Amino acid sequence: MEDLKLGKVDHIITRFPPEPNGYLHIGHAKSIILNFELAHEFKGKTHLRFDDTNPAKEDTEYVESIKADVEWLGYEWDELFFASDYFEEMCNRAVLLIKKGKAYVCDSTAEEIRKMRGSLTEAGMKSPFRDRAVEENQALFESMRQGEFKDGEKVLRAKIDMASPNINMRDPVLYRIAHATHHKTGDIWCIYPMYGFAHPLEDAIEGVTHSICTLEFEDQRPFYNWIIRECEMENTPHQYEFARLNITNTVMSKRKLKQLVDDSVVDGWDDPRMPTISGLRRRGYTAEAIRAFAREIGVAKADSVVDTKMLEHFIREDLKLTAPRTMAVLKPLKVVITNYPEGQVELLEAEINPENSDMGTRQIPFSREIYIEQEDFTENPPAKYHRLFPGNEVRLKNAYFIKCNNTIKDESGKLVELHCTYDQETKSGSGFTGRKVKGTIHWVEASQAIPAEFRLYEPLILDEDMEEGTSFMDHINPNSLEILEGFVEQNIAEAKSQDKFQFFRHGYFNVDPLNSTRDHLVFNRIVSLKNTFELPKR
Ligand code: ATP
Ligand code: MG
Repeated sequence: MEDLKLGKVDHIITRFPPEPNGYLHIGHAKSIILNFELAHEFKGKTHLRFDDTNPAKEDTEYVESIKADVEWLGYEWDELFFASDYFEEMCNRAVLLIKKGKAYVCDSTAEEIRKMRGSLTEAGMKSPFRDRAVEENQALFESMRQGEFKDGEKVLRAKIDMASPNINMRDPVLYRIAHATHHKTGDIWCIYPMYGFAHPLEDAIEGVTHSICTLEFEDQRPFYNWIIRECEMENTPHQYEFARLNITNTVMSKRKLKQLVDDSVVDGWDDPRMPTISGLRRRGYTAEAIRAFAREIGVAKADSVVDTKMLEHFIREDLKLTAPRTMAVLKPLKVVITNYPEGQVELLEAEINPENSDMGTRQIPFSREIYIEQEDFTENPPAKYHRLFPGNEVRLKNAYFIKCNNTIKDESGKLVELHCTYDQETKSGSGFTGRKVKGTIHWVEASQAIPAEFRLYEPLILDEDMEEGTSFMDHINPNSLEILEGFVEQNIAEAKSQDKFQFFRHGYFNVDPLNSTRDHLVFNRIVSLKNTFELPKR
């Protein structure tokens, strides 16, 4: 980035290079935002490039989901590329290396190659095939390409330095044999370039100037530069590293997320508990909130773990002024207001969003029968319990004070309804000051209440620090989803897919885009209202 300021480069091209082997997660969002916004800042371009060099794991389903996610985040790529479009060119560059004596065909097995690589303290051992003649290498590589060998029988390796202190420079593998059908090139190829060889070439072919990757690739940089130089590429991209995003209680790797999907721990890649972009979107996160989050965490050179609370902070901030307020009862208990006229329904007025008066007002029906939360009543109140209990009076949000007089139970002794009385004088907005009550509870009028399903989420992964030797699969939270059947106010009966609301005292909710129907509304809790997060002071 300094290069631009110093005028070392006069234009900038960045790229976002996902491998289409899974759905994107919030970590990828950080990379997308960084690449697109950096280019934008310096009036450059950004490519979306699918790094599809591993046919066994890649699929067009993933390609489509990745495109949709990048667009949804609010970015438009200037060019769309597939690494597989460059297979011919990459093969030619490999032949060039062979001709220069910089690459050789090796018959060692993967296991042997690993063993001979040495360690941080020990030099590697030279392959017995290292000194093959150029012509022999050329012929063998051509035979590899023609499909004359089985998977794993031979590889093409760079000939660099088996004693290099950087293990990545100890004759890394450039090409391997894989008789597999590729999602784009089908069965044309049976040799595929390794990531470390392919990536710099892809960047150079496209004229990328800033190849931004995560920190674990720092040690790869010398090899990256070696490939650019020895393959005699016209353009010279530069690799820059930044810290990857880690979030507490969150697995952030496509491989692990795929395991959660494959083992049916979740309902698919877009399960609202998943840290995937599609999961967050379905849960009710907005692109604005994710972008604001990414901006806040910024770009650092040191790895760190960000608290999930920070992501939650940004969705609350985004919805605070835009989400209509309404009431929903998640675990209903019937209340009969015995002194309210039978058959009468009155309409009470309330603001749609007290924090944004531009949103206007709504009408809430009130009558003799309402629902309240089971949790807002107890027969044996502990100290400081200010909600409803026999003899106590509370305020119904936007309505009246009610007082509990009687509990009605069935034969088994189970509570079925409460009998209360209301005080007409105490109507909300009337300026009543006669007496005070300590508790305010929410409610929904019974005759017009709309039944609804609520899905409440908790983190999918329990422990933040996994002990050694345990897998994230041992830390799955068995209670990550709770499904409740309750009621919402009739004035959101027409709620549509992805509409977002704040349910008084419960949090922000989203209409589930997959399972919600007109006859059976389904709401996902995006986030509760408790905000325990504070942005660091600057
Ligand atoms: P995963 O392990 O989840 O598959 P990956 O790095 O293998 O991640 P790619 O599809 O190769 O996934 O990544 C595309 C881009 O996204 C890369 O440039 C990579 O550096 C970046 N990226 C991946 N994970 C993160 C993360 N947690 N934080 C920031 N950037 C990330
Ligand atoms: Mg990967």
